[in-house]
Amino acid sequence: MQKQYDVGIVGGGIIGQSIAYQLAKEGISVLVLDSHKGGTGATSAAAGMLGANSELENNDAFFQFAKESQRHYHILRDELSELSQINIQLVDKGMYKLAMTENEAKVLKKAIEDYETLEWHTKETVLQNEPHVSDLIVGALFIPEDGHVSPTHVCAAFSKSASLLGATFKENTPVHSIKKTAANEYTLSTPQGDYLCSKVVIANGVWSGHFFKQLGLEVSMKPVKGECLSVQGDHLNLEKTLFYDHCYIVPKGDGRFVVGATMIEDDWSTTPSLGGIQSLIEKVTPMMPSITSAKLLDTWAGLRPQSDDGKPYIGQHPEDDNIYFASGHYRNGILLAPKTGTMIRDLILKRKQNDEYIHAFSLTRKLTQTTR
Ligand SMILES: Cc1cc2nc3c(=O)[nH]c(=O)nc-3n(C[C@H](O)[C@H](O)[C@H](O)COP(=O)(O)OP(=O)(O)OC[C@H]3O[C@@H](n4cnc5c(N)ncnc54)[C@H](O)[C@@H]3O)c2cc1C
Repeated sequence: MQKQYDVGIVGGGIIGQSIAYQLAKEGISVLVLDSHKGGTGATSAAAGMLGANSELENNDAFFQFAKESQRHYHILRDELSELSQINIQLVDKGMYKLAMTENEAKVLKKAIEDYETLEWHTKETVLQNEPHVSDLIVGALFIPEDGHVSPTHVCAAFSKSASLLGATFKENTPVHSIKKTAANEYTLSTPQGDYLCSKVVIANGVWSGHFFKQLGLEVSMKPVKGECLSVQGDHLNLEKTLFYDHCYIVPKGDGRFVVGATMIEDDWSTTPSLGGIQSLIEKVTPMMPSITSAKLLDTWAGLRPQSDDGKPYIGQHPEDDNIYFASGHYRNGILLAPKTGTMIRDLILKRKQNDEYIHAFSLTRKLTQTTR
């Protein structure tokens, strides 16, 4: 048996690493185990949008949680860069949700009634700000706070900062089982040996369904495959993210434009298909016609972890206070990572929690809402 840790985290994607960072900052001894390299699951496939307003429709606890997480990125940018010297590439120039018809404009304008920071921009204003947007639009909803980050840089910055604060990270170490010992601790069994921990956090994304079953929970986790492509072109000029009909163009700080993403339910393959990429090209062209002459750089796919109602599970095992879950972040794991990290930290440290968040993300909640 190897050294004992206060907390063992299964999964080194952005969620596991965010939790590891927050715990390490409190002086807690943390072990993160990843079956691969860490940060190479869904995290590496994500476009990195922080789309609280663009993704979530209701002004409920989930939305408030997402907004807090989005704001937290401004603190993390400085904190993580000072510690790890890694720039998380936070860009906060906002997003345009385009309307191609008067009816679409009417629907988008309704959101302004609920959120005072949102603005309606006429076609003329949009084209003045973003000359490469199609002139077939009738206008756009401007969402100033929905920026983006580089998910792989955020994950690496969490991981390096956590390590500098004392956390241990082991790659290529898949956890096969979690067993409680007679002394009320947990053995995490891997092909590389067993690890003893006082508490365990399950944060292995779409693969956490395996542990739900093993730990007697009747909740499930399904993959929703998403395909993306990236292009580059000196002639292209875009500051804000564009969004239309489930398709987006994110202008990354390094000159790339990421176009995403398909939604294919129950597909475990991580290879992009020709049909998927073709559908993205067909959707993106009417948004920004000049993109078709850009240089194609890359295509990829990843698996969004989707819970039974599309909301994440963030909380404790209903019958075992020392087992925590942080998975099922579906389309918004990058957005939700900062707040997931602080929520699990506070649960572990028994700090006061927002009851609405506990209820919204509990494993025993009533699963009523359907996914988008
Ligand atoms: C195409 C696409 C676009 C997206 N765009 C966005 C976006 O713009 N904004 C946004 O907020 N979200 C986006 N998402 C969603 C986001 O990527 C996910 O919600 C998020 O990455 C989930 O993070 P995670 O750490 O839970 O999972 P992952 O990143 O998948 O990490 C899980 C880790 O667990 C490891 N693991 C698995 N099994 C084991 C085991 N038994 N033992 C140890 N380790 C194990 C894996 O190797 C992996 O590293 C997108 C997703 C996709 C696919």
